[in-house]
Amino acid sequence: MIPFIDLKAQHARLEQDIRQAMDRVLLHGQFIMGPEVVALERQLADFAGVQHVVTCSSGTDALLLALMAWEVGPGDAVFTTPYTFIATAEVISLSGGTPVFVDVTPSDCTLDPARLEAAVEQVRSKGELRPRCVIPVDIYGLPADYEAINKVAAREGLLVLEDAAQSFGARYQGRRAGSLAHAAATSFFPAKPLGCYGDGGAVLTDDEQLAETMRSLRVHGKGGHKYDNVRIGINGRLDTLQAAILLQKLRIFPEELQRREAVARAYVQGLQGIEDLTLPPFPHDRRSAWAQFTIFSKERDRLQQELRQAGIPTAIYYPRPLHLQTAFRDLGYTQGDMPVAEACSRTTLSLPMHPYLAPDEVARICEAVASIVG
Ligand SMILES: *Cc1c(COP(=O)(O)O)cnc(C)c1O
Repeated sequence: MIPFIDLKAQHARLEQDIRQAMDRVLLHGQFIMGPEVVALERQLADFAGVQHVVTCSSGTDALLLALMAWEVGPGDAVFTTPYTFIATAEVISLSGGTPVFVDVTPSDCTLDPARLEAAVEQVRSKGELRPRCVIPVDIYGLPADYEAINKVAAREGLLVLEDAAQSFGARYQGRRAGSLAHAAATSFFPAKPLGCYGDGGAVLTDDEQLAETMRSLRVHGKGGHKYDNVRIGINGRLDTLQAAILLQKLRIFPEELQRREAVARAYVQGLQGIEDLTLPPFPHDRRSAWAQFTIFSKERDRLQQELRQAGIPTAIYYPRPLHLQTAFRDLGYTQGDMPVAEACSRTTLSLPMHPYLAPDEVARICEAVASIVG
């Protein structure tokens, strides 16, 4: 069986360094907000090309911290894509705002800037909600079209929060994911391109005031000291141990990104020309972090089943778009409201992807796919 994601290969490579880094934390004993957290925030900011990084307990809390800092609440419309993990829209409801779903483009499954403009106009003409923010999602690791989205947002007075949970390390017009909007949230969940050994996340921004507010929010809304509480916050810190692990993984991350891209190119070579398949795009102005290598097939279910029989695991991200989730039934969406996202959900299939996938494994997977749907 080929692993879908091979965390063991990476761990074998880094084991000595990671154990030593963890030992240093065990010895100094500053398990909460220790020196590794400070060092990681500086290095992540330099890597992504932003002024401020606020690490936190998960990608979900990273999204939530930004919305809380912007004081998103009842009566606020927050626009986002239905073609994402639940967390992206969950935090909108948690903050008290209302998610407004905007369908995606067929070319890359990211939020469609033209439909965003239309959705904002519709919310304005209804007059019940105030348009506040938009959360584009860099699905599978590929940045959304920020030039177009930021233009609409500027015209409409919206704040833009980049959901870079899958795209840390990606580029858009030369800039790194995480630096493409007013603020960005990323995740260090183990399966993400840069993962730790538990839950973790970060918010990235150039806005100093915003960063300060989020630093307060992640420690129960603290003011001048721990027992001075100036706002309602959360317990949302990143553990020092996780920061120590991430510092080691960050050293090899640029090389791992290159390996992921090489795997993606090998897949495209091996799969091109199969009529039933749509392969992921390589837009000239973007470089994906290749969190997933995702293909689309009308015969998706049969393909997945027969690949499994051939010892090749796959995953479906995501089988049900968020506007059709039970948790959001009160929003009143129905089947057919987001036709592009719905079609993507019916045909999407992610193949094994990690930096240590060998060329002969990629070849074996491509041959298996070709023999099933070729
Ligand atoms: C993983 C993910 C999140 C949430 O990150 P966690 O660290 O698991 O909380 C949010 N958005 C997207 C698009 C994700 O893939």
